Amino acid sequence: SFFYTDSNVITDTSKTIIGQSNGLTDKISNLWQGSGSHANIDHEILTYPQIEDALTFKQTSDKRRSEIVKDNMEFYHDFFDKEISEPKKGTLARAPAQGADYDRANATLLVLVRNEELNQLLHTIRQIEEHWNSKFHYPYTFVNDQEFSAKFKQSVNAATSGKCNFVVIPKEIWDPPANIDMDKLFHEIDIMEEQQINYAGKLSYRNMCRFNSGYFYQLDFLKQFKWYWRFEPGTNYFCDIDYDLFKFMEENDKTYGFVISLYDAPQTVETLWPVTLDYVKKNPQFVHPNGAFKWLTENLQNPWHARATEGYSTCHFWSNFEIANMDFYRGEAYSGWIKSLEENGGFYYERWGDAPVHSVGIGLFEDKDKVHWFRDIGYEHSPYKNCPKSDKCSGCSAGDFGPGSLDDQNCMSNWIKLEMSNEQLAWY
Ligand code: GDP
Ligand code: MN
Repeated sequence: SFFYTDSNVITDTSKTIIGQSNGLTDKISNLWQGSGSHANIDHEILTYPQIEDALTFKQTSDKRRSEIVKDNMEFYHDFFDKEISEPKKGTLARAPAQGADYDRANATLLVLVRNEELNQLLHTIRQIEEHWNSKFHYPYTFVNDQEFSAKFKQSVNAATSGKCNFVVIPKEIWDPPANIDMDKLFHEIDIMEEQQINYAGKLSYRNMCRFNSGYFYQLDFLKQFKWYWRFEPGTNYFCDIDYDLFKFMEENDKTYGFVISLYDAPQTVETLWPVTLDYVKKNPQFVHPNGAFKWLTENLQNPWHARATEGYSTCHFWSNFEIANMDFYRGEAYSGWIKSLEENGGFYYERWGDAPVHSVGIGLFEDKDKVHWFRDIGYEHSPYKNCPKSDKCSGCSAGDFGPGSLDDQNCMSNWIKLEMSNEQLAWY
């Protein structure tokens, strides 16, 4: 039987390379389906027609869009009416006694940040420390495309109870790659500015999104870690967390944890979906049969979104908070996909966000039951919140999502209704 070590190299079980062409990979993939084993792949393998079928989920409704938004928000509020506390399943690793040894998970808090954002960063670090890290002392990794100032380093060192590491991103990782046509890019930027898309005119924002999509987990310094908790300056954390979140992920075999799910501006991801389907057609073995296909292709609440993207709802996990396993990104499914996204250039010509990229990757290539909604983490990145009804929380009001005018941006009801199993629902 055959397995792949990467998308173009086919080996037999004695690890002899027997072929290296793309076409051959496809052919052998077809022969091999159902009979062999695959490095990294531990699930049933779908054929491309089956995948296409799974991804053409289309709901129908007689209701107007405004009613659908209203229904979904009602569902959301009813759902948040339930009082919750910590996850009820699995063992929760508690904080060690003051000064006692503690065997931490292989993990770091992680933030990409500029020197100018120091005050907002300290604001958020204080909350993370107060609610959680003062009990566990996980290390921090501060990442920047520029050198951190001495003042920055001193201030964060003074505010944290874990070791602080400072990483500067090499220019060749941060800047646009050689295949980007800058004339074409500026032309596309003009068109997006005309449509008043957020950050349309910013090259640095595109660098940031591309870095967060495909490169942070490849930084030399981060290679030692498996788990990261991404946070951002200026965000708020409302609830005490009395268990080790990284160990929770590890012990319960989760890959990706999130708190908020939203729609995105379709103009920023116009070709992400077709480019992805191309990749999936060539590599059907990577698609997990228990993927989050419905959430990815829902088309009722914002039907124009799925139309403008040729089938992607634009629903995503908001990536300014994430607790996830970097080995997922480092695996061949995701990293091969990033390579094909890079060839397309959409990180620059369109401004693909790291949130939709992580989300489409997780939604297609991972078991959706390995995605955990941290309902118990009260959180705000303006203008949106995840605010549970819980004794452990203060400073936000239960069920508050954000300004009512933005209700149509909330994709959380879809996640709950379309993708959460009864077992997942029973975690709280
Ligand atoms: P938004 O959340 O999409 O509005 O984008 P933000 O402006 O909050 O940027 C996302 C994250 O990337 C934040 O943690 C920022 O501090 C960081 N970030 C954005 N642009 C840059 C940049 O040019 N350099 C550095 N070092 N960090 C950046
Ligand atoms: Mn932000």
